[in-house]
Amino acid sequence: MAHVLVLNASYEPLGVVSLRRALVLVLDKKAVSLEDTGVLMHSATSAISAPSVVRLTRFVRIPYKGPVPLTRRALFARDGGRCVYCGGVATSVDHVIPRSRGGQHAWDNVVAACRRCNHVKADRHLADLGWRMKRPPAPPTGLAWRIIGTGHRDPRWRPYLEPYGTAEELAHMGAGRSGLPSQPADAPLSPGAPADRCA
Ligand SMILES: [Zn+2]
Repeated sequence: MAHVLVLNASYEPLGVVSLRRALVLVLDKKAVSLEDTGVLMHSATSAISAPSVVRLTRFVRIPYKGPVPLTRRALFARDGGRCVYCGGVATSVDHVIPRSRGGQHAWDNVVAACRRCNHVKADRHLADLGWRMKRPPAPPTGLAWRIIGTGHRDPRWRPYLEPYGTAEELAHMGAGRSGLPSQPADAPLSPGAPADRCA
């Protein structure tokens, strides 16, 4: 089922809900539709165009904005689905400072990498190989990450997310699945996750 972007009354991105939940919000007048898919949804008595973006009619206060969870999907989105070392298609997760040398499993030490670079690098430091990155890895910031981290995407959401994230982070939103690996990317990233070769 399609998913719908929910904005606060202030236009801040809040989250992603199912189309069914979004329709209830609109029918209860708790939200208004800002973008329609053009698909008509029929109820017993009326028809309503399925929303793609809704905005709450009343501001809700979010008491705590926690850090962005470190998931494979979010990591690949941060790095644009590309290997940070060679720019090839990323298929694995690399610890910049290898875990065997005390590297942490944290946003500032994990990067998306292609399998070849990950294999070549193994448990060595970048300096050992003469490799360098364009910029050091860092935790993603910005409210857009609440949405990017869900893995749901829709080109119609992009204008509403742009004020809250960088164009680079949002690039894949407007272009379907291109730029992201086709393998499942929603598994939590835990140290030693079997799908990853964590050097
Ligand atoms: Zn590579």
